[in-house]
Amino acid sequence: MRVIILGCATSTGVPIIGCGCSVCTSDNPKNKRTRCSVFIETQGGKILIDTSPDLRMQAFRHNITKIDAVLYTHSHADHTHGIDELRTYNFMNKMVIPCFGDPQTVSNIKSNFKYIFDGSYSPGGKPKLEITSINGDFDFNGVRIIPIEVQHADWFILGYRIGKMAYLTDCSGVPEGSIKRLKGLELLIIDALRYKPHPAHLSVDQAIGVIRGIKPKMAVFTHMGHELEYEKLSNELPKNIEPAYDGMEFDLDDA
Ligand SMILES: [Zn+2]
Ligand SMILES: [Zn+2]
Ligand SMILES: [Zn+2]
Repeated sequence: MRVIILGCATSTGVPIIGCGCSVCTSDNPKNKRTRCSVFIETQGGKILIDTSPDLRMQAFRHNITKIDAVLYTHSHADHTHGIDELRTYNFMNKMVIPCFGDPQTVSNIKSNFKYIFDGSYSPGGKPKLEITSINGDFDFNGVRIIPIEVQHADWFILGYRIGKMAYLTDCSGVPEGSIKRLKGLELLIIDALRYKPHPAHLSVDQAIGVIRGIKPKMAVFTHMGHELEYEKLSNELPKNIEPAYDGMEFDLDDA
């Protein structure tokens, strides 16, 4: 399977509008980050995790012409506000797109994007989605999807494990029970917002601590803010941990 990091920025994106800091004004393309999302091509289909506000640009960059399913981690704006771009895929692929999330996320998405789901907006121009609450592992077209509960400030949201990769964006802590479900990973993509602690996100040091507990073959940081400069961070990190950049790709075994 192939994993593409479509975006690896925190909620503002990097550069931040109006910010003149050295990262926001850097010429290094690896310091230009769109909002967090990954695209996973598996034997069973093409799976998008979250619909970032930058989905349209991300889809152009990677020529994404098919989305078979969307997995939502949670309902924050930086993970959902590209939802309307799914319309294009309804037209192109002539299919309703199945979307999945935990019960709280599904309920929030249904109320935040009421026009999509309540049947009251008839003139068309809305995405055709079938959103399902999940509360455990499930199969999608023969691909095992394993939701992983993580803490995000004072609520619990989902990361996902598929085969030997796991995606844990937006986490301030990973419960012991979830750590147990993350053994034997080739690739762990994990939140690391900045150097200083934050109530809703792991810091660089905290993320390194979590990675040491999980012991994946390789780990990659995502949801990074403008405090993190790609080259500097890359040089500081242990050799099996790297900062992500938009467009980073991995080829992994399916199982
Ligand atoms: Zn976020
Ligand atoms: Zn900045
Ligand atoms: Zn969030």
